[in-house]
Amino acid sequence: MSEEFIPVNTPLLNGNEEKYLLDCIRTGWISSEGPLIKKFEAQFSAQVGRKHGIAVSNGTAAIDAVIEALNLGPGDEVILPTFTIISCISQIVRSGAKPVLVDSDPVTWNMDVAQVEEKITPRTKAIMLVHIYGLPVDMDPLLALAKKHGLKVIEDAAEMHGQTYKGKPCGSFGDISIFSFYPNKHITTGEGGMIVTDDDQLAEDCRSLRNLCFQPQKRFVHERLGWNLRMTNIQAALGVAQLERLDEFIKLKRKMGLLYTELFSGRLPDVQLPLAKTSYAENIYWVYGLVVDEKRGFDAEEIIRRLGAKGVGCRPFFYPMHQQPVLKRMGLFENESYPVAERISKQGFYIPSGLALTEQQIHRVADVVMKELT
Ligand SMILES: *Cc1c(COP(=O)(O)O)cnc(C)c1O
Repeated sequence: MSEEFIPVNTPLLNGNEEKYLLDCIRTGWISSEGPLIKKFEAQFSAQVGRKHGIAVSNGTAAIDAVIEALNLGPGDEVILPTFTIISCISQIVRSGAKPVLVDSDPVTWNMDVAQVEEKITPRTKAIMLVHIYGLPVDMDPLLALAKKHGLKVIEDAAEMHGQTYKGKPCGSFGDISIFSFYPNKHITTGEGGMIVTDDDQLAEDCRSLRNLCFQPQKRFVHERLGWNLRMTNIQAALGVAQLERLDEFIKLKRKMGLLYTELFSGRLPDVQLPLAKTSYAENIYWVYGLVVDEKRGFDAEEIIRRLGAKGVGCRPFFYPMHQQPVLKRMGLFENESYPVAERISKQGFYIPSGLALTEQQIHRVADVVMKELT
């Protein structure tokens, strides 16, 4: 078979991206001083109904700035899911705060909100929730807990552009929330991220941290250590163009996800498919994940290799934080076990899900997957 390889993700850049990028070059606005950054911040934060948007260089940097802006550090505890990306935990650990983990729900793969309360101690300062793969976390009970215990809510909505929970935009639930614009997200700026909040002080602190904590009056005199996390006008040009098409992209992603499910249903024994919806949201299929039952006798790593050899690019699920060698070497999470996260990270993977995937490619991917898995 000499059919071309189908990559796990290809972004769709056929709107006004080229036009706005050319504008950057023609006008010379290529750094973070350009006019499109403020425009992108205003349009993006309006889309999620927030007062402030602070564009940064990537989603990880957004989380780093948020942890610092909340003044988290030694003696503080932050509750987060073990099933997530390393970006969520690295600045918590670097700050000297203690990450406290909860397991996942086996059906939605999101953090199991029912496990949060037993992890709250007098030192708990914040809950970081992470919406995983296309369905939001069950927010109402989580927000009730945060309110009851006076905890800050940090919302990682990196995978949730355009998604809602009970009709309210994801990214509007945290005291402070973040997004990523990596090319596999629903809208991309190549590399990029955004912090959104309604809190004036937090917004000001994040803006300052993004820009080395330069002071307006005494530019080179610093009261605090920041970073250079600035987004460029070139990235914002992509962002503005992509944002124009968010609704269309979400419709397309839903259509792709539902087509996969239609092709697979009843034909993939012992394989768990993503839920099309919950009582509070319809899946936007950031990625289309599959979890293979261990009784089939192989894990995700093996199936990814086999599908790759047949021209289908796949990726494993996240690897749990409590099993990360770098964190275990620091003495974190000793003797802790989170069986759901351990299982889905071992048996779970996702198939090509990018916006540029054609219907024909979806059919081919589905054929190859069903041949390998039935
Ligand atoms: C992609 C992602 C990030 C990190 O974003 P980058 O822009 O790649 O740094 C953080 N959290 C989640 C849940 C993500 O999916």
